[in-house]
Amino acid sequence: MTTPIRLAILGATGSIGRQALDVVRAHPDRLRVVALGANRNIDQLRDLALEFPTARTALGPSALVALATDPDAELVLVATPGVAALRATVAALEDGKRVALANKEVLVAAGHLVRRLSGGAGDRLRPVDSEHSGLWQCMAGEKIAQVRRVALTASGGAFRDVPIEALAGVTPEHALRHPTWRMGPKVTIDSATLVNKAYEVVETHWLYGLPYDRIDVVYHPESLVHALVEYVDGSVKAQLAEPDMRLPIQYALLWDRVPSPAPRFDWTADRSLHFGAIDLARYPCFSVVLETAHSGDLGAMIGISAADEIAVERFLRGDIPFTDIAPTLRRGAELGKNKHAGPEPDLEEILAIDAAVRAALDKTAVFA
Ligand code: MG
Repeated sequence: MTTPIRLAILGATGSIGRQALDVVRAHPDRLRVVALGANRNIDQLRDLALEFPTARTALGPSALVALATDPDAELVLVATPGVAALRATVAALEDGKRVALANKEVLVAAGHLVRRLSGGAGDRLRPVDSEHSGLWQCMAGEKIAQVRRVALTASGGAFRDVPIEALAGVTPEHALRHPTWRMGPKVTIDSATLVNKAYEVVETHWLYGLPYDRIDVVYHPESLVHALVEYVDGSVKAQLAEPDMRLPIQYALLWDRVPSPAPRFDWTADRSLHFGAIDLARYPCFSVVLETAHSGDLGAMIGISAADEIAVERFLRGDIPFTDIAPTLRRGAELGKNKHAGPEPDLEEILAIDAAVRAALDKTAVFA
């Protein structure tokens, strides 16, 4: 009989947090919730406090660090979006806790810092995202030095079949209808622009220490293959599963293979898998993020991360058209460029660059 892992969940009422709680309910002997945080949803948090009466609960972004360093917690699931989760992630790692990371911006804006604190993907830093979990599963027992290249799959998002000339007129409602995954609003819009996939390339770089020229993205509309790893001998391993986040969440939390609440893969069904190149003309944001990543300017990446949070909010409010997201990212990269003193920005510098880029974009009357 093993003692249950004591788990803190930041973002307990969001899409990943709710699915993580499904995993907890499926494994009460393996996982015990000791702390739950939510950003705004007080009603749902109250329901969770009744269901998990011994867990500490807290609301709002100011509570994140305290929850992440809760003395009872040994594993912290970071499932709140945005750079707002950065301080809590760093605090948890510095406190010696294991972190299961579902947030994207933390590695995009501060990958160098998180890698230094955690050593990259492993027991201390567990990737939750399906593609990074897929890579992790394909590389288990292998040597990273023998990996020739890896590929992340991309479904193409909500607008993969919309004519390019119609993209300027698409609505937030349409953008929020992802073809294969059910996720929160930020990541769903980021999937429609393919910012999400470019972010995953950056995260792969920091999680696995792979250079950018060995990380590919492959168009794969069915979202059944999540990642591919090619070894030096030419053998390619792929990880397949039905698109259900509860599987990679469980793998990150338990670090083990046990039955999960996710649906099983039906290989008797008659179906096809398609693979192809990314249509770069359709996804200008994808190129902006990757060109900036290749440039190695860490300040520019912080600028992009800040600009994307602002651009997505503005698009969701109906303030800017979908096609203004890419120029906003370019502007963010420009604003963040060369803004830190040493070769790598530290935590306070990262947050200062983020704030400065937001303030500069706030002053900009958006591409009137
Ligand atoms: Mg993903």
